Amino acid sequence: MNNLTFPILRLLADGRFQSGEDIARHFGVTRATVWNAIQEAEALGVEIFSVRGRGYRLPQPIKLLEYESVLHAIGDQRAWFTLELHDHLESTNSYLMKKAATGAPHATCVAASLQTKGRGRRGRSWQSGLGASLTFSLLWRFQSGASALSGLSLAVGVALMRALHDIGIKQAQLKWPNDILCDYRKLAGILIELQGDMEGPSAAVIGIGLNLHLPEHVQKHIEQAAVDMHSLARQPIDPSTLLGTLLKHLALVLNEFETQGFEHLREEWMRHHAYQQQQVRMLLPDGREMLGVVNGIAPDGVLLVETANGLQRFSAGEISLRGVHP
Ligand code: ATP
Repeated sequence: MNNLTFPILRLLADGRFQSGEDIARHFGVTRATVWNAIQEAEALGVEIFSVRGRGYRLPQPIKLLEYESVLHAIGDQRAWFTLELHDHLESTNSYLMKKAATGAPHATCVAASLQTKGRGRRGRSWQSGLGASLTFSLLWRFQSGASALSGLSLAVGVALMRALHDIGIKQAQLKWPNDILCDYRKLAGILIELQGDMEGPSAAVIGIGLNLHLPEHVQKHIEQAAVDMHSLARQPIDPSTLLGTLLKHLALVLNEFETQGFEHLREEWMRHHAYQQQQVRMLLPDGREMLGVVNGIAPDGVLLVETANGLQRFSAGEISLRGVHP
């Protein structure tokens, strides 16, 4: 990566025009070098307006993550975390999975201002962009084995709910097993990947993508209804405050999950359940669809659905849930 690309993007973060000449003078390089760095940013999917005679600017002002502000927002639990902020990563989960395998400490958090190959479940992709989303992963090590972690993605959902409600996004709801919706549009997704034995100890890499301000060119790649914080919050939300608040609640909920299990968090999960007692479509991996009415979730986190064949249990790998809108 061109060493100047991100320093230039930081200079452009206020959304105002900067001439190529001024940028070149600022960094003590030629205008051709600036042009190359801008080309590289565009190749990474960053939208930059370039106007002859005026220079370069971003479509809108953006806020980038700041180390101290994240720690400040975590509060009392800040000493638990090892925090890494990156300008660019292809996938925070892939990066942290590798680090976890070579001994990265418990509670390592890796965030990227720009994630270019974000992943969803079963090979799906997560769309993000510079200033468009908060993308980070958290490594959590458990004494127990992977077999005891079946409710983990639901527990993470509870942590996100507490954090979003804390910063005033009261309309946030949960979609089983691991999405955050507002008004049935997706605000955030969770991807959990596990390492270790079924019997323990084990490690979970918890990846979270949360939309901040989705520009049109990112939104057009998302084939389901999406929403961002910009359209939900009354005032701009600083990504560092958001990340710190999320980490604080994740730490508390993950400790509750480890000591008391998902059963202890189940009632809270159900209070935020977007599809409780609603008709849904269930998409099966082989392309078939089933209809049913959601009855709730069991203490182990499986979804209970009333279908034509009676009450059925579905685990997270088996189906994708979709609402049936009139
Ligand atoms: P499931 O119900 O199985 O979780 P899902 O379609 O929500 O289904 P995920 O793997 O959780 O699947 O998330 C990936 C999907 O999320 C993508 O296929 C796309 O439809 C959607 N998506 C991708 N990027 C975004 C985004 N920035 N905001 C909202 N939705 C997104």
